[in-house]
Amino acid sequence: MEVLAYPETLATAAQNWLDRFERALAAPDDVALASLFVADGYWRDLLALTWRIQTIAGSPTIAPALRRDAARARASGFALDPDRTAPRRVTRAGTEAIEAIFRFETAAGRGSGVVRLLPNADGHAGLRAWTLLTALDEIKGHAEQLGGSRPSGSAYAREFRGPNWLDTRTAAAAYTDRDPAVVVVGAGQAGLCAAARLGQLQIDTLIVDRERRIGDNWRHRYHALVLHNQVHVNHLPYMPFPPTWPAYIPKDKLAAWFAAYAESMELNCWTGTEFAGGRYDEANERWSVVLRRSDGTAREMHPRHIVMATGASGIPNRPDIPGLKNFAGTILHAGEYQDGNAWRGKRALVIGSGTSGHDIAQDLHASGAEVTIVQRGSTMVVNVEPSAQLPYALYDEGPSLEDCDLITTSIPLPLARKSHVLLTAQAKKLDQDLLDGLARVGFRLDFGDDGTGWQFKYLTRGGGYYFNVGCSELIVEGEIGLVQFADIDGFVAEGARMRGGATIGADLIVLATGYKGQDVLVRKLFGDEVAARVGPIWGFGDELELRNMFTRTPQPGLWFIAGSFAQCRIYSKYLGLQIKASELGMLA
Ligand SMILES: Cc1cc2nc3c(=O)[nH]c(=O)nc-3n(C[C@H](O)[C@H](O)[C@H](O)COP(=O)(O)OP(=O)(O)OC[C@H]3O[C@@H](n4cnc5c(N)ncnc54)[C@H](O)[C@@H]3O)c2cc1C
Repeated sequence: MEVLAYPETLATAAQNWLDRFERALAAPDDVALASLFVADGYWRDLLALTWRIQTIAGSPTIAPALRRDAARARASGFALDPDRTAPRRVTRAGTEAIEAIFRFETAAGRGSGVVRLLPNADGHAGLRAWTLLTALDEIKGHAEQLGGSRPSGSAYAREFRGPNWLDTRTAAAAYTDRDPAVVVVGAGQAGLCAAARLGQLQIDTLIVDRERRIGDNWRHRYHALVLHNQVHVNHLPYMPFPPTWPAYIPKDKLAAWFAAYAESMELNCWTGTEFAGGRYDEANERWSVVLRRSDGTAREMHPRHIVMATGASGIPNRPDIPGLKNFAGTILHAGEYQDGNAWRGKRALVIGSGTSGHDIAQDLHASGAEVTIVQRGSTMVVNVEPSAQLPYALYDEGPSLEDCDLITTSIPLPLARKSHVLLTAQAKKLDQDLLDGLARVGFRLDFGDDGTGWQFKYLTRGGGYYFNVGCSELIVEGEIGLVQFADIDGFVAEGARMRGGATIGADLIVLATGYKGQDVLVRKLFGDEVAARVGPIWGFGDELELRNMFTRTPQPGLWFIAGSFAQCRIYSKYLGLQIKASELGMLA
């Protein structure tokens, strides 16, 4: 084994573990295999051995499952990967470990993984694994055509009177004579990442979006928007943002990049096209879907797969607020709000204190409106810098983006939780002055269930926090008013009548009350039966993975992708590989 490029002891220790691991996989009983893991260890598999995304906890449970799945997949050749980050000592979720990236293969594909070994008192002998990740990178015979194996492009030039590149692209995107294998609904980062991956796997894919132009999902957001985390964490697959770009990308710059990305990655996109719903034909294993185009025409297509990449923008949540219908002014949902200019010199009530509520309140305030935020429930507030950037520290540690992504996926849910409790405590300390100020003016704060912070609020309920870019200071200084929803008696034509008898006058009420969950959208687009079959989407149930996300769902041919830029970049790869495997008849 060539490990000389690594600090010898760590590399040797990690390779020793991999050798023992491979021997134990081949041994007839589970005892030796279980003894390679600490009792409360974890194994996460991303397709490589199971064609599933799953996490198993505890060495007695891991050993039989791993032996069975590794044998079935014919896994072998576990070895440190000299082309990737060398084994290192790291601290993850507050625990010191040796972290090593390795590679292996199965009958079906090639994979990579991460093992985290806990140091023991006797040096490196007999180290045991705390976490193990096995992840599929490619299906044999169907590798992406990248770098040295890129297409030559000469086919477009050989036949001078035949179709050139543009003719071919135009015909491919028109779908006049065929239907795609996959329809991706939504051209935000989730849809673009999924379609780019599928394209590289030679799967005929059409993205539809109801917006007029690619990028409009960002263009239509408020004037001052810049992304909340930094550029180096947010790259899309294959085409990283230029190194000259600002750390926090402004929305219109991002929108233009999305359009350029779709063009450069040769994605077939139909904008101004609403996905109006579909029915699954079990016998033919195909969907019938209706696409409504902005010119008033409709097209029925029969793809084998639908990838829902509709984000949170599906169905606005308009809670039944008693008496709101009495209000004589304008009522907008946050999704309908675009610009504060029209409200200069007017009075606005913003109901809701998540990111949208704060951002819209700040936009209205900057536009010269008199604004009051109505807080309905407690909210987590985190300064955008440095506190909100703490979870991305890994991406500053030095390893390549590819290695950071693999390391990120190798942290099982319970350890991610533990890690976020620590980060939340750290953020709380850093933001103490601001949080004290907010508490003084009566803002109700929380720090997530069990102190797990904003990331788990995002993963479980998709909101309930605010990355402070200045609105919190405006609230503390009284520049933006704050009232509690519970103190409102009801709404009257002029505004909100408070329990004390006073009325807060308003010309505009913005409902920053979020969006309904994906399950509601599924019911609307595919009917009750499919919605019941699929069940809850996003958040965690009993399993240690997000529900129905990036993975096979109980409804054949229906897939979901959502999340941050990093989640979409990382998991679009595995979504693409599963759909490819399904097309090849490899998914049992
Ligand atoms: C101020 C702000 C800053 C943010 N900063 C970051 C950041 O730094 N990093 C990060 O990772 N995330 C950030 N986010 C969060 C998140 O990444 C975005 O909300 C993102 O838009 C989600 O992408 P998506 O592709 O899942 O969905 P969306 O961007 O909502 O795209 C979904 C698309 O689906 C289309 N669609 C929906 N239904 C249909 C239908 N039936 N037919 C056709 N089309 C349909 C919509 O038109 C839309 O274009 C930020 C959000 C905000 C508001």
